[in-house]
Amino acid sequence: MAMIVVPVTTTCPKCGKSVVQKPGDGRPEVYCGIPCRRLAEYEIKRVQRAIVNAEDEQKEWRQRADLGMHDDLVGQPGLSARKADWYAGEVARLEARLRELVGG
Ligand SMILES: [Zn+2]
Repeated sequence: MAMIVVPVTTTCPKCGKSVVQKPGDGRPEVYCGIPCRRLAEYEIKRVQRAIVNAEDEQKEWRQRADLGMHDDLVGQPGLSARKADWYAGEVARLEARLRELVGG
């Protein structure tokens, strides 16, 4: 008796179209086609740079928060801690996007 194989579809992380997975043990297709794969390569590079930048900002604002001087100077208590938290969230958001782009 032949097994009924239900086609598994995933979503292209670049354009959102369905990607029908071919049966077999091969690596699953992440993208719907070559254009999206190429565009994703560029986005991955941009996201990597943005992560490095956000991590640097986070570190810098955290140091300012720990020193406590900056917020007094600009008259905005808690500003540095809020900025550091925001950049921490940005790092997490960018890492989630990177995960999508690599098919995780
Ligand atoms: Zn696509």
